[in-house]
Amino acid sequence: MELKKLIKISDYEWEIPQTGEMKVPGRIFGSQKLIEEMDEKVYEQVSNVATLPGIVKASLAMPDAHWGYGFPIGGVAAFDPEEGGIISVGGVGYDISCGVRTLLSPLTKNEVEPYLEKLVKALFETIPSGVGSEGEIKLSPAQLDEVLIGGARWAVKKGYGLPEDLEFIEEKGCMDGADPDFVSMEAKKRQHRQVGTLGSGNHYLEIQYVAEIYDQSVASAFGLFQNQVVVTIHCGSRALGHQIATDYLPLLAKASRKYGIPIKEKELVCAPINSEEGLQYFKAMCCGINCALANRQVIAHLVRGVFKDFFPQVHLKLLYDVSHNTCKVEIHEIGGKKKRLYVHRKGATRAWGPGRPELPESYREAGQPVIIGGSMGTASYILTGTKEGEEKAFGSACHGAGRTMSRNQAIRSFRAEEIVERLKKRGIIIMGKSKKGLAEEAPEAYKDVSLVIEATCKAGLTKRVAKLLPMGCIKG
Ligand code: 5GP
Ligand code: MN
Ligand code: MN
Repeated sequence: MELKKLIKISDYEWEIPQTGEMKVPGRIFGSQKLIEEMDEKVYEQVSNVATLPGIVKASLAMPDAHWGYGFPIGGVAAFDPEEGGIISVGGVGYDISCGVRTLLSPLTKNEVEPYLEKLVKALFETIPSGVGSEGEIKLSPAQLDEVLIGGARWAVKKGYGLPEDLEFIEEKGCMDGADPDFVSMEAKKRQHRQVGTLGSGNHYLEIQYVAEIYDQSVASAFGLFQNQVVVTIHCGSRALGHQIATDYLPLLAKASRKYGIPIKEKELVCAPINSEEGLQYFKAMCCGINCALANRQVIAHLVRGVFKDFFPQVHLKLLYDVSHNTCKVEIHEIGGKKKRLYVHRKGATRAWGPGRPELPESYREAGQPVIIGGSMGTASYILTGTKEGEEKAFGSACHGAGRTMSRNQAIRSFRAEEIVERLKKRGIIIMGKSKKGLAEEAPEAYKDVSLVIEATCKAGLTKRVAKLLPMGCIKG
């Protein structure tokens, strides 16, 4: 992105001035290097989002932002329903509530290493992965409705996991406002056997260890210690979420025209929150969130089962479950007044600072755990949200490293066997359903996650807690 088009606010914050139809300015977080390397399209998309009715304060992009459908990936925007604010499919994304959860073991790296290969293999055999992967749970559309209403609560009720897990999931495991009547039969049918499956692409299940602790007191509150083995699951709402997005795109395109909101890009369609169409999409999207929460809960249960086979005494405690493709109703202080806003985060993680009532009691002083993936060959991070981040970015942070190479470019540049071999030499066991998929996911296809984390922290949005390094990774 061309720096000269931006106003520098600080070393890690840049403004797109409010011009033309923009109702607010744009704000992009990142170091000069990250901004210079950022997709030019982000500038255009952040500016487009700034033209939408009822947008509050600014249209935002996180340091890992890149081009997306309508909103950039890494885009954050909040809308006020009392000011004609809108809800947009492009602001949530296709994989509704794609997210990450990390499970903590009491084991150290040394204790797990002798079993690592067998453990990764057992996980690979137990957790269905790959394009269109199907699991043991078969649900009729009527049974699926219970998932869409209950989220992770449904899963726990069915015996997948423990009631205490719910405390450590955003929305306590269940998004209010879901109404399956607004989800198509097609979406429900496609999800028939997909609850409890990882999917493909960059969805992953990774065994990691804590390689570095930056903040001992927050790490202790979160239950993290040096050399500890943890497991992270990254996946979303599978076919159901994708179908909801597909179904609502034409509906909201029609709504955009009906309410006179210019369509800047095919996916940047929307409807006023307080319109029939807006409410319908919100109810369907909440179903998508619950589907993803149930999905990650079932997978976590399967992971626990596999660990029990190797380590019968070990319980994997849930650190936290965060989503990074959502629109949520939240209270934010704007100009000294508390406002109820619809906050879109697409490829962005919620990052509450200390004190927020939504946080589990045991984390309230520390802030919200923010879980960030890097790649299967590099570091991932656990961060915590800040009060400053709540003021600057509605309590939001980056969600990953972001790609530097397109999938096609990566396939041309890397071979799966070579990646697996190379990582094995570093003690990292990789298993994947698709060779093409593994080549696409080469660590070199991603940006340097440490630079993204540095920028997110220096911008004040988060604080570092711990660095994780991979030991084994399963890809779809
Ligand atoms: P997205 O949600 O946009 O699909 O991806 C989130 C982030 O996950 C990516 O930006 C990337 O940095 C990270 N990621 C992708 N694959 C892996 C992996 O295999 N392991 C880890 N730890 N992170 C990954
Ligand atoms: Mn996803
Ligand atoms: Mn994701």
